[in-house]
Amino acid sequence: MNIIVGFLVVVILIALAAYLWPLLLLAGLVVLAYKIYETSYFNGKEFQAIKSRIQNHIQDCNELNQHIEELKDTGLVVNRTDYGTAEYHDQSKWKVKRSALKSHQYAPYIYNCSRTVCDNARKQPFKYICKYFGVKADEETLEKFETMLNNFSAVEDGKEALKAERKNIMGSISGEIPALIKRFSAKKLEANLGFEPVDFSTLYFPKYIFKYVSSGGNTSTEYDIVMDIENLNRFVVFLSEKIKFKKSAAGQRALMTSKLRQYIKERDHFTCKQCGISLEQEPHLLLEIDHIVPVAKGGLTTEDNLQTLCWRCNRSKGSKIPA
Ligand SMILES: [Zn+2]
Repeated sequence: MNIIVGFLVVVILIALAAYLWPLLLLAGLVVLAYKIYETSYFNGKEFQAIKSRIQNHIQDCNELNQHIEELKDTGLVVNRTDYGTAEYHDQSKWKVKRSALKSHQYAPYIYNCSRTVCDNARKQPFKYICKYFGVKADEETLEKFETMLNNFSAVEDGKEALKAERKNIMGSISGEIPALIKRFSAKKLEANLGFEPVDFSTLYFPKYIFKYVSSGGNTSTEYDIVMDIENLNRFVVFLSEKIKFKKSAAGQRALMTSKLRQYIKERDHFTCKQCGISLEQEPHLLLEIDHIVPVAKGGLTTEDNLQTLCWRCNRSKGSKIPA
């Protein structure tokens, strides 16, 4: 039976090819002609002129993109070694293609456990993360997670800013780009203009996995906790409630939550305290919350030690302070 069906299919295909080959040839020629047109357009004077005119804007976008990528690395700071897994060294600077490293870099924390632990972790995720992933409820850990929350919030805001800004730039030149190129070469257009690829995924959020596999290997249950912005906010509060603060100023400080970040931005009228640029002047501006005296130098998360900075000022401030 199968042989007959196969035979029929072959006969039909041969018949189709016999009648359709002029069409196939035509299609091939059209594609070839388009490729030639596309290449000559991107190499042409007109396109190069547009490109050089908006070069500064594209450069700015690419720098924001790099800044965002650097902020994502905060997730690597937290106790990778405590649980006995290998430590991830990320010595690569931005120059190295990140996409190849990504799966490695954002590898989840996995704990292989009994079914009971897996079930319990589902009921009290934060408690079990602390217990089984060696996350100590102390002031130092709290600060690390607060920094992570602050930086990741900037990443998420930054992605929106970047999206809007790229759209803006593309919109400003849209009238000058031929319709065919916009329609069929959108991706190539962005690449040829000099935009670096942007990673809009949220894969960089740390992920804790409790995994149970039965001894026969036939059943398995998995419970994942992704430390996204919402969970980080909750986790910071959870940790702070567990910590018995030393009788010091540290106990009096505020928690770096999304609410506090928003409050500081509003207090500073959405204006960078260093260069004075505001959301009003640059609607897609990424604003960040900065510790005036850095946490590493004993600065506290208190209202008077926090200020709003634009990403450019925050970035250049960060690079001046020795790690
Ligand atoms: Zn600034």
